[in-house]
Amino acid sequence: MELRAVTGDITKLQVDAIVNAANTSLLGGGGVDGAIHRAAGPELLAECRTLHGCPTGQAKATGGYCLPARYVIHTVGPVWHGGGHGEAELLADCYRNSMALALELGCRTAAFPAISTGVYRYPPDQAARIAVDTVRRFLEEHPEGPQVTFVCFDARTEDLYQAQLAEL
Ligand code: ADP
Repeated sequence: MELRAVTGDITKLQVDAIVNAANTSLLGGGGVDGAIHRAAGPELLAECRTLHGCPTGQAKATGGYCLPARYVIHTVGPVWHGGGHGEAELLADCYRNSMALALELGCRTAAFPAISTGVYRYPPDQAARIAVDTVRRFLEEHPEGPQVTFVCFDARTEDLYQAQLAEL
């Protein structure tokens, strides 16, 4: 199973699909969403308009346009409200549904940002554990699934992922 974590900008990755931490409107926002839309160009927003939004925990795919990636998989992470509002299940749904969509699209490689850990305030250590556990479990069940890179925006986040990846 191929799982790795790197520090970098997800918009630069040469993979079949990058995952976007979008909001339910799918019409763009700040953080990684804004960076992806800027790098992909205005055609991405035009395609997103045809999707009519996305519920939290679900995922929808578009083309990658000017990105090196062929597809963008837009998923909507939960807003952190203290942990008692189904946040963990919804975050796991994001990873599982994005992996299922990547597999359906025939992707051999995919990259995830640290969904919900920015504006949505999910504690980064707990989010890293869910990300790694959920993707690992998915690939155990679907060994033909894509190789995954977790793209962290800073070295501290990468350390959290490396700690999770070191745990068997
Ligand atoms: P959310 O609303 O789901 O919390 P954010 O975009 O605010 O989404 O943050 C999600 C994570 O993405 C944060 O850890 C943030 O540091 C990171 N991030 C922001 N820009 C990029 C980028 N270009 N590449 C990778 N990660 C990024």
